[in-house]
Amino acid sequence: MDQKARELASKVCPWADESEDETEMAARLFDSALPRDERIGAYRRTLAARVVASDRVAGSSSGGMTSWVAQRLLEEGHVDGIIHAGYASGQNLFDYRVSTTVEEILGNRKSMYYPVSFSEVLELIRGDGRRYAFVGVPCFVKAVRSLTSVDAELDKQIVFCLGLVCGHLKSAAYAESMAWQLGVKPDAIEQVDFRIKNPEAGSRGYQFGVKAIDADEFASSSPFNLVGGSWGHSVFQPNACNFCDDIYAETADVVFADAWLPKYESDWRGHNIVVTRSEIVDQLIEAGIAAGLVEAEDLEVDAVAKAQAGNFRHRRLGLRVRLMDDIKAGKWVPRKRVEPGYEGISAERLGVIRQRRHLSAESFGLFERAKKIDDLSVYIRGMAPLIAAYDRWSRPSYVKRAVGKLKRTFWSMKRRIVE
Ligand SMILES: Cc1cc2nc3c(=O)[nH]c(=O)nc-3n(C[C@H](O)[C@H](O)[C@H](O)COP(=O)(O)OP(=O)(O)OC[C@H]3O[C@@H](n4cnc5c(N)ncnc54)[C@H](O)[C@@H]3O)c2cc1C
Repeated sequence: MDQKARELASKVCPWADESEDETEMAARLFDSALPRDERIGAYRRTLAARVVASDRVAGSSSGGMTSWVAQRLLEEGHVDGIIHAGYASGQNLFDYRVSTTVEEILGNRKSMYYPVSFSEVLELIRGDGRRYAFVGVPCFVKAVRSLTSVDAELDKQIVFCLGLVCGHLKSAAYAESMAWQLGVKPDAIEQVDFRIKNPEAGSRGYQFGVKAIDADEFASSSPFNLVGGSWGHSVFQPNACNFCDDIYAETADVVFADAWLPKYESDWRGHNIVVTRSEIVDQLIEAGIAAGLVEAEDLEVDAVAKAQAGNFRHRRLGLRVRLMDDIKAGKWVPRKRVEPGYEGISAERLGVIRQRRHLSAESFGLFERAKKIDDLSVYIRGMAPLIAAYDRWSRPSYVKRAVGKLKRTFWSMKRRIVE
């Protein structure tokens, strides 16, 4: 690679110091009159919302608003296609694709906690004279925005970016390790479903499912009953995610999250938190509410941030610690929007942050070894002491757990009375 190409690559890489940070990029992209919150970025409207039709929302991860907005952008002629992740054939279970019909959008829903790449898809669409909406996690949206800032052709074509709030990415080992625990070895997986909704539980009660090649049905379990199923453990998280500080996809025109607030968690069908930064998206949602297709409530910005409290602890507080730890160890660290440091962080929190990073890094080697000698117990036994140490640091106090349970019970009873 020559010097010029290297400079260009650094300009579009979301992790390189030479690329804009999310605040700089958002200032370039969005109306400067929009209010801005340091936690969620610029915003027009902040909502809790879901698609009303229960049979439809059952096939989405949360409230179904991501695929609904994508569908409406297509139907209203704002775009000719949606660039998003979908089911793949071949070696990968999922990959980026282009959907140009509502059927294709609806056939490729739910969260794909799996490594996907959009490079081939962008090469495919570049210069075809059509307009697209891109769907991706925050760093992917940032990468696309950087690319369109230096590529005039793609800039004309990618006219909307839809963000997905992200806790961290996962390698393929996440799906493989959970499937294996359900009796399906990595090379026997036909399909996985990370978000099977459970009408008997709240929205947090979803299951992980796997279908083996030649099997008729999915085997499934609560991810919490599987080693690595808790997102707090961050198994198989790429190291880059240790350096991310963008929770609400601050460079996207609209971003969708799970509504992790007690009021919405009591409803198994799921709700989204939605932060909009586009007038067109606002109009589509407003029209959906008026037509009775979307149920929505405005939310305070504090509630929006609270719904991702754990994510903020990991991404902002945790990032300060990881940066400082690496600087002290003499390692290079990227330019970030948080200051490295330990001030004001309790010993327990420091323990959680460091043990999570350790656990995350160790998970890769342990699973690799398990695969090599075809013995899952190498992974399970290796993870046990790491998880036990993490749980000792992170266990919430009895009072905190009791208050959380009380809130969920209250909202669940209220919902039953109303319905
Ligand atoms: C890796 C990852 C981590 C996440 N972490 C969190 C978190 O910590 N907290 C939180 O609140 N929410 C998180 N989410 C978002 C959440 O899981 C839901 O995806 C989101 O709420 C949208 O739900 P929905 O019902 O609106 O989407 P649906 O109606 O089910 O539609 C989902 C849309 O997203 C697309 N999509 C799914 N996965 C990917 C992907 N990997 N790359 C590109 N497009 C994709 C699909 O193609 C589809 O168009 C994460 C999502 C991903 C992919």
